[in-house]
Amino acid sequence: VKRSGRGAYQFFSQAMNERARERTAIEAMLRQAVKTGAFELHYQPRICLSSRRAVAVEALVRLKNVNALIAPSRFIRIAEETGLIVPIGRWVIEQVCRQLQEWAGTDLQNLRISLNVSPVQTRRDDFYSSLVAMAAKYGVDPAQIELEITESSLVESELSVTTCMKHLKEAGFTISLDDFGTGYSSFSYLNRLPIDTLKIDRSFIHEVGSSQGALVVEAILALSRALGKRVVAEGVETLEQLEWLQARGCNEGQGFFFAFPAIAEELAAGLRMRGFL
Ligand code: C2E
Ligand code: CA
Ligand code: CA
Ligand code: CA
Repeated sequence: VKRSGRGAYQFFSQAMNERARERTAIEAMLRQAVKTGAFELHYQPRICLSSRRAVAVEALVRLKNVNALIAPSRFIRIAEETGLIVPIGRWVIEQVCRQLQEWAGTDLQNLRISLNVSPVQTRRDDFYSSLVAMAAKYGVDPAQIELEITESSLVESELSVTTCMKHLKEAGFTISLDDFGTGYSSFSYLNRLPIDTLKIDRSFIHEVGSSQGALVVEAILALSRALGKRVVAEGVETLEQLEWLQARGCNEGQGFFFAFPAIAEELAAGLRMRGFL
């Protein structure tokens, strides 16, 4: 069908209007949620591939709507652009510290929690001090907290992130590089920065079944071994992927094969049931 120029214009402007409306709605929801704490944290385990035990869990935030949860893919970018990620991030950190305090003395006490940090948060100079203060408030050892920083955030705001990382490392927190392989950056920072762990992006893990995909992940594993970093494979969905990674010495796996992200109680029940503790 041949569309008139005007028709195509109307079609696109309608799509743009819809996107703007969705954006406005999410922003309003976020502003409200920041006041009322209408978020929920889900946790997904990271399993040590040699011991088959859970060694850490990643905290993943959801926005609570009237009767549904909204996924971070729909609101994190908006939260970053509006600065709302700062109070949201503070809420996440407090929940994580509270959770670690609650787990102390239970069968979950050895689990570390990793949380996602936006470069918008590290650009503020009180990020480090408020994190340290929050850990102290809940009696949490910084070694129990891992901060996941994306490779792309290093490219966007290298100085603030790297300064912050050095302080965090000195205070005893551990640091992982998230979505590794997707950030278009050089490898030069891998030696310069205090990164403990590389998290291989799930897009690479999905390709280990093909010979080209396998070569890429083997190269990443060799690189991290040479640099003395731990490696986590993200997005492990099948037994084949798990066995492939295990045979090549990948340290940890995370993904739907082991567990879906869930609230703390469900996480604990799942870990106990599957013998991951
Ligand atoms: P991410 O940090 O890469 O987190 C992993 C995402 O992969 C999660 O999506 C998780 O549910 C999903 N996932 C886990 N296993 C599998 C699998 O086997 N297959 C597939 N296809 N997906 C899997 P989620 O929870 O929707 O989070 C999306 C992104 O939102 C996160 O990606 C992270 O970048 C961001 N995010 C989540 N929570 C926070 C937060 O508290 N702060 C910030 N700044 N960003 C967050
Ligand atoms: Ca992450
Ligand atoms: Ca990731
Ligand atoms: Ca990701």
